[in-house]
Amino acid sequence: MKTVITQKPEETFELGRQMGREAKPGQVYCLSGDLGVGKTVLTQGFASGLGIEGPVNSPTFTILQSYEEGRLPLYHFDVYRIGDVEEMEEIGYEDCFYGEGVSLIEWPGLVEEILPENAVWITIEKDLEQGFDYRRITIGETKQNED
Ligand code: ADP
Ligand code: MG
Repeated sequence: MKTVITQKPEETFELGRQMGREAKPGQVYCLSGDLGVGKTVLTQGFASGLGIEGPVNSPTFTILQSYEEGRLPLYHFDVYRIGDVEEMEEIGYEDCFYGEGVSLIEWPGLVEEILPENAVWITIEKDLEQGFDYRRITIGETKQNED
């Protein structure tokens, strides 16, 4: 487990970019943390690290946004508005989680039962006593190891 402190969005973006550069096929990253902590900023950096140049934003009305133009396919899930886990099956999440690309999932707790055991959990937290832009980012191994 590793903890990184960032003091501005650019630093979180850069952390994501480094992870994107090192990403391997089949990895699944769970991005947990409250609204506005920087899950999408980290994802944007990650995409950049994979060589994806287009804009990456949280999909508002779709749960999944796929990017095929980088070094590896990137599957960006934001399941904030999911009603039922079955929607993940309709989307075909298994091809993403168990394929050759990399999956990043915002709000993973809402689809916990379908997450693979080897998923890497990244938790982003604010600490307002440290300032508005302070973020503590914990990169775990797998959920099991944290328990
Ligand atoms: P989420 O996807 O977790 O809801 P976003 O990534 O969309 O959050 O937004 C994070 C917001 O917090 C952005 O407006 C960003 O500029 C701001 N911010 C401030 N400091 C940081 C930081 N250290 N890391 C990431 N984002 C930060
Ligand atoms: Mg987001």
